[in-house]
Amino acid sequence: MKKYIKYIMFDYPYVSLKIRYITKKIFLYIKYYKRRTREFLLKISRKLYINKPKVLQFPITYKCNFDCVMCGMQKMAKEKDIDIHDIEEILSNKLFNQIRSVGLNGGEPFIVQNLEDYVKILIKKLPKLKYIYLITNGYLTDRILTKLRIIKSECKKHNIRLTVSVSLDGIGKTHDIMRGRSNIFNNVENTCITIKNNQKEFCDDFGVICTITKHNIININEVDYWATKNNVNIAYNIATIHKRLFNEDRYEDFSVLTDDYYKLLTIEWFYYKFKQTNSEQYYNLYRYLLDNKRIAKCDYQNDGITILPNGDLSFCATQSKIIGNALSEPANLLFKNNILYRKQLMENKCAECSHYSGTVSINKYEEYIRELLQAYNYRLR
Ligand code: SF4
Repeated sequence: MKKYIKYIMFDYPYVSLKIRYITKKIFLYIKYYKRRTREFLLKISRKLYINKPKVLQFPITYKCNFDCVMCGMQKMAKEKDIDIHDIEEILSNKLFNQIRSVGLNGGEPFIVQNLEDYVKILIKKLPKLKYIYLITNGYLTDRILTKLRIIKSECKKHNIRLTVSVSLDGIGKTHDIMRGRSNIFNNVENTCITIKNNQKEFCDDFGVICTITKHNIININEVDYWATKNNVNIAYNIATIHKRLFNEDRYEDFSVLTDDYYKLLTIEWFYYKFKQTNSEQYYNLYRYLLDNKRIAKCDYQNDGITILPNGDLSFCATQSKIIGNALSEPANLLFKNNILYRKQLMENKCAECSHYSGTVSINKYEEYIRELLQAYNYRLR
């Protein structure tokens, strides 16, 4: 068999290229039809039942040691954060008993002195929990490393996968400008490198997240180079209006969407990243910037819920209104009574939203496959 394969590869290169192309095409279309079937079944099950949320976003505090250009959280710095007993009470509601993944962020979560106790409560109260995604700005190196060791060991005991992401929006001065504070880059870099080099001690998966604004797009190559040099996973997104971050009044100043020059640079960047990685996430962002329309799916459309640091509930943290406070009314009733509003949110807001860009929605998946095959065919020649 090997002999024949070699014979075809070397003596008939055109045939060999065609075979590779067709194999790739078959593989991509199998993936597409599998995904279509799964989504169809999900749609039916959603029609029959009001599904409980599976994804929880939990910004644990309003407090942060920085004042990022794309964030207005400092306006809320004096607000009281939710107490550990209150969160335990909220999570006891049956609405949360299907939650599989929790996004833990803030503000800066490591400002919360007993962060590890909150994680223990999440594990205790959420019977189906499988994933925790923790996002930090990486500045309080010693505290972050100490707490992560405890959190990781707690997750390991309960078979929960812990992903840690550090926000890294530039190198040196660019990062400082993005964070609104000087001389912070070295600490953040130190946190990243220490975690990366001792990953097993601190988490299961590690990476940095780079949020693109007018202030860092010009130097974006530097971050990419830094990540490659240090062998750190990197994911890019674009800064957007975010209800949870109270940043509407800063939009004009930070968003690449408000200026054609910055927008064009960002389109080029995501097109380049898509061609380099084949990532659905980058294809989504490239198409979003090009057509001003979302083609990505979003976990929060049907499966998400957010608990804000004061106990307020919303569907997603980006565009959803507050549907009530879970300390004053049962969370399941708030959720049920606002299902109609969630439908309106999806109809009116999702198309313009660039946030949570994961997989390509099924009605645009064929276009994504065609782009992939075109690039693959070109590379084969
Ligand atoms: S508005 Fe954005 S974040 Fe919210 S559900 Fe829609 S797509 Fe998701």
